[in-house]
Order: sequence, then structure tokens, then C-alpha cells
Amino acid sequence: MRIERVKGELKSLRRSVEMIDPSVQSSVKEILSDVKQRGDEAVSQYTKTFDGADLSSFFVTEEEKQAAYEHVNKDVLRAIRQAAENIREYHARQLEQTWMMTKDDGTILGQKITPLDSVGVYVPGGTAVYPSTILMNVIPAQVAKVERIVMVSPPNAEGKLHPAVLVTAHELGVKDIYKAGGAQAVAALAYGTKTLEPVDKIVGPGNVFVAAAKREVFGHVDIDMIAGPSEIVVLCDDSANPSYVAADLLSQAEHDERASAIAVTTSNALAENIRDEVERQLQQLPREAIARRSIESYGAVYVAETLAEAVEVVNQLAPEHLEVMTKDPYLLLGKIKHAGAIFLGEYSAESVGDYFAGTNHVLPTNGTARFSSPLNVSDFTKKSSIISYSKQALDQNGPLIASFAREEGLEAHARAVEIRTKEGEV
Ligand code: NAD
Repeated sequence: MRIERVKGELKSLRRSVEMIDPSVQSSVKEILSDVKQRGDEAVSQYTKTFDGADLSSFFVTEEEKQAAYEHVNKDVLRAIRQAAENIREYHARQLEQTWMMTKDDGTILGQKITPLDSVGVYVPGGTAVYPSTILMNVIPAQVAKVERIVMVSPPNAEGKLHPAVLVTAHELGVKDIYKAGGAQAVAALAYGTKTLEPVDKIVGPGNVFVAAAKREVFGHVDIDMIAGPSEIVVLCDDSANPSYVAADLLSQAEHDERASAIAVTTSNALAENIRDEVERQLQQLPREAIARRSIESYGAVYVAETLAEAVEVVNQLAPEHLEVMTKDPYLLLGKIKHAGAIFLGEYSAESVGDYFAGTNHVLPTNGTARFSSPLNVSDFTKKSSIISYSKQALDQNGPLIASFAREEGLEAHARAVEIRTKEGEV
């Protein structure tokens, strides 16, 4: 793991956004248009080609969900249930209320909050399973009171979904689970098929085909975000335990060889200890090969002159996950502007937030924490403005409104006001 002294233009530390391969883009476009035209028939064909499954029905049955419980370890089930409770409790606080304000002249203005009618949650298939992904995407939608939540996930070659996926969905009360993955599932959600009603928004992570498809259907439906490789930055001073820092860097690096794990510190000695600890712990990891490639390509320990400079590095990186392991992490909180999730103190390992604490693990990556937020309940609601003017208010303000309209060359706008305020003159 390289150690580098911070110097020069800090912006250059930021990683550039990777472009989607044009060949992926063109095959995704073809799949989307095919599903748009041929619906379930096309989905069925792609599911056979890419997942090797020959399905007689796309939907998971209640029996399949019940049977899945036999294959899920009791401790995992307890963890799923407790995490779900924590996530629900946290997200309940995010629910925004409709509000109204009144003015003395009888004007009433307000903002109405309405849940989206329907949402599709993409749950990746493949070799790994992600029950936590289901919790993090479905629960905020439920808290927002979205009426219809559909899950899609690619089946294995026997046409089945992983028991942990089925159990988690059942625990949350998700009724509709459509067995399809990749761009064909995104197309089915966006355009609808004979068996699947289209949705208004698609959320959830996936591979490059899923990401490219979500990007293509955006506008026709809403999407959450396009997630890049996962990132962690650990901001630490000489009070930090290097073995904790190393363990947390590796917890990110094991995700993916493109994941990035960076420590920023003010201590040369700590930097060297972190590097040595990373090497020692790497050798004991089951996913050593992936983690090693990530650390070698994207890992670093940056050494700053002062804590203020270290915080500036963090703000420039705008990481998805930030851990603060300094003498007084709260002292720095006010100075940290850009990070998806901020973990304070040595007992707040990122894994706590990934699975369990209750905060959302769907976070902005690739420096987008500069302008975007973790997935939250408001992503599943929308706002309508409410305007109610009284006769008194219109009489009083009508001339101002009309002159505004005329300045913009919109005479009909001006007259629509004057017809009410200067009766008979228009
Ligand atoms: P996936 O469900 O994303 O993709 C599987 C689908 O990809 C298949 O059903 C198929 O339709 C499609 N596909 C595969 N090869 C194709 C090809 N040549 N042409 C067209 N379509 C093709 O599952 P996965 O591939 O295992 O990927 C899971 C991804 O989700 C990983 O990249 C993982 O990092 C990511 N993930 C991210 C988070 C997060 O929070 N950021 C969480 C969980 C998973």
C-alpha cells in the first residue's frame, strides 16, 4: 500500500468517473427495445440466454417463500429481523409532512407530500447474495407508503432465487417478486409487460448492464443513482489503532478490485503501521486476491501536515464512507462537508452501517457526495405545491403580477389576472 505526502492540487486526488463501455451500451439498448416490443417473451428469452433458466412463470409463489425458511440459518434470520427494525426506526424520522402556511390577506400556500405509486427494486443475483440490499431499498419505500413495491432478481439455472433473498422479501411483506435480471428486468419494470405492470421508479444496485439500462430508462421512469465502485476514507490521528484502520480499509477492498480504501492521517508513524497491518491482515483474508488488487490499484495512505489539511483532503475526495478515528471526532464533524456516511469513533466500523445500525447503505460514490445524499424516504415521495389566493390578495397583487407577465411578453397571463381584478375591463 503506497504512502504519499499530501501536496499540490487536492482535486487531483479525486478519482475520475468510469465511462460505460460502448459495447455494453449498445447491447443494453437492443435488449431494452426488444423487451419494449415483445414483453415477457423477450424477457424469457434473455433469462434463458444469460441466466440459463427456462421459466414457466416469472413470479415467485408463496410456497417458494415459505420453503426458503428451511435454508436460512436462524442467526441470519434474527439479524435480518433486527436490522429491519433498526432501519425502519431510523427512516421513520425522515418522513416529511405536508404543510400549509397562511398570510393575513387570506393567502394559503403549502407543500403536499405524496408517495410514489409504484417502485421496482433491483436485487442483484450472481454468486453473492445481498439481503441487506433488499432491506435498504424496500424499507424507505415502505416508510414513504409506496403502494406497490415490486422486486426483480435474476434466477439461477434452476429458475430459483436464493433462499435469503426470498426470506428477506417475505419478512418485509414484499408480495411481487419477478424472476428476471439485467437490462431485461429493468426494461420490464420501466415499460411493463403482459405480466408485470410498469413502475414509476427503479432503485437498487447491479452490474454494468443494470447500471447502463437504468441510465437509458431514466426520464421515462425515475432512478435512484448510478453507483460506482465502493469507497472508504479513514481520517485518523496518532490516537487511532492501526489494526482497526487496516481492518476497515480491507472491509471495503474485499468488495471489488475497483473499490478504493484510503487512510488520511497526520502521523508518519501511523501511516507506516497502517501499511504493515494491511499487509498482515490481507494474508489472512478469504478474498485476499480481490482485496489485494484493490489496495494495490486504488489504496493509499495520505499524510497531511495538519488535521485541517487532512479534513480538506476528505472534502475533496467526498467519499462514500468516511470513518473518523481521531482524539475527538465530534470536533471535526462541523468541518466535514462532503461524505455519504460519517462514522465517528473507533467502535463505529463501516460494517455496522452496512448492515445494521439503521442508516442507509445506499450512498453516493465517485465524489457525488458533493451534491447528493444517501437513499432516503424522500426518494420515494414527491412534492406538490399548493396555492390558494383570496380575492383580497389578488386585488392587491394583481398589478404586480400583470406587469411581470407583460415584461415576459405573455399578455394572456396578465389578462388572466386582470379578468378577476378589473371586472368587465378585459
Ligand atoms: P446482477 O444481478 O447485477 O447481473 C446479472 C445479470 O446481468 C444477468 O441476469 C444478465 O441479465 C446480465 N448479464 C450478464 N452478462 C451479460 C451480457 N453479456 N450481456 C447482457 N446482459 C448480461 O448480478 P452480478 O453480475 O452478480 O452483479 C452484482 C453487482 O451488484 C456487482 O457489481 C456488485 O458489486 C453490485 N452490488 C452493489 C451493491 C451496492 O450497494 N453498491 C450491493 C450489492 C451488489
